[in-house]
Amino acid sequence: MSQTKSSSWSNWSGSVQCNPKEILEPSSVEEIQSIVKRCAAEKSTIRVIGSGHSFTGLVGNNKTLISLDAYQGVENVDKEKSQAVVRAGTKLKLLGETLLSNGLAQVNLGDIDVQSIAGATSTGTHGTGITLGSVSTQIAEITLVTAKGEVLVCSETQNKETFKAAQVAMGALGIVTKVKLQLVPAYKLKYVKEKVNLDDCLNNLDKYKTQNRNFEFYWFPHTNTIQAKMLNITDEAPMKSSVMKYFNDMVLENGAFKVLSELCRMFPSMSKSVAKISAGAVSTGVDINYSNRIYATPRLVKFQEMEYNLPAEHAVQAIKEMRESINANNFKVHFPIEVRFVKGDDIYLSPAYQRDSVYIAVHMYKGMEYKTYFDAMETIFKKYNGRPHWGKMHTRTASELSQLYPMWGKFQEIRHQLDPEGLFMNDYLRKLMVVNG
Ligand SMILES: Cc1cc2nc3c(=O)[nH]c(=O)nc-3n(C[C@H](O)[C@H](O)[C@H](O)COP(=O)(O)OP(=O)(O)OC[C@H]3O[C@@H](n4cnc5c(N)ncnc54)[C@H](O)[C@@H]3O)c2cc1C
Repeated sequence: MSQTKSSSWSNWSGSVQCNPKEILEPSSVEEIQSIVKRCAAEKSTIRVIGSGHSFTGLVGNNKTLISLDAYQGVENVDKEKSQAVVRAGTKLKLLGETLLSNGLAQVNLGDIDVQSIAGATSTGTHGTGITLGSVSTQIAEITLVTAKGEVLVCSETQNKETFKAAQVAMGALGIVTKVKLQLVPAYKLKYVKEKVNLDDCLNNLDKYKTQNRNFEFYWFPHTNTIQAKMLNITDEAPMKSSVMKYFNDMVLENGAFKVLSELCRMFPSMSKSVAKISAGAVSTGVDINYSNRIYATPRLVKFQEMEYNLPAEHAVQAIKEMRESINANNFKVHFPIEVRFVKGDDIYLSPAYQRDSVYIAVHMYKGMEYKTYFDAMETIFKKYNGRPHWGKMHTRTASELSQLYPMWGKFQEIRHQLDPEGLFMNDYLRKLMVVNG
């Protein structure tokens, strides 16, 4: 087993830093079990790093950090059942390409593919599509190493309650070693980007979200402009990735936006003008490719983010209130607001638990003051019974969160049974999980 020399760790956005005693890279279940047993005997604590793409303190720990980068890959593919057993550390990009070579695909994905499968599912990572659940709903079976160092397999038919808890558990129940995913035959998507008026979109929102398999939009604050993104299954041949497309994605969208963002960081009062310039330059176009190659986009400009899940029926009203608040407070923000839709599920701590949902995400360029803006938006999200994305910034603690989740008590009961000594807890998780923790 390798141990990294680095004595410090930081997440993607730089919002979390820690100085662990050790960062270990096990490459087998047996090695994971032996770390767990040793740390339990030492009464120490363990947190697992996925790819560090959560914005919150979920991973931070000054004792033992485990990375599963050396434990990646697809172990078994059942083409008849469209299922695959995947090692927990496997990055989504590798997973997508391996599945494609076997004629299979994930039914939906978020907008990047650098996360590990266990990291993504542990926080309820989602894409968009009102008939499609979060990535966690794709799990048919989870294998955990518990605080006793034992291997526990759970599914709809085996340890069902633990399964419903473990599908979104932020690493609080144990170390996920494998997931069996329910997949679909590989498919191609036609991706259409259009510039649309925000009010026109809100007036026709039901049509947009039900007439497209995947619909989302980016709204540029201080403007009435959105970029609408519509993805639908197609039999058309993939479009060749042109030099022009690369130039557009990497240079124009990421490069120019980085320069404009730096300008806003140095002169925050320019944010409104920059939002208007960005809205004016919204890119439109079409792309066709296999699904896993379409969902993900490069994210070279770093930011902080808050994202909330609201019942889908409140989408229009909440967005209108956000607009009023941004205009009234003249918030210095140029990053677009992202709006997506997700089907409800039955996972105990899934923000989409028992409700079809709209997810609304607000962003601020790294290095710019975000708290005033995020606080104002969170007040609106709370009013509509909003549940925060577990991997993104929010201010909620256990006493409030316990009121938002009907199965909160059951989840905590299972957590106490599986990890009575808090081997898998850190200070941040304690605030989320333990009332007055
Ligand atoms: C640029 C960017 C784009 C994003 N896009 C989306 C999006 O489109 N949709 C969306 O919903 N979210 C999105 N996110 C959020 C991101 O998907 C989640 O925060 C996700 O959890 C990150 O995965 P990760 O592998 O980096 O996990 P980490 O952030 O490293 O870890 C997340 C949690 O999982 C736990 N964990 C990881 N591996 C294991 C394991 N093997 N066993 C037990 N626990 C484990 C960690 O301890 C932690 O609690 C985005 C984030 C960024 C920075």
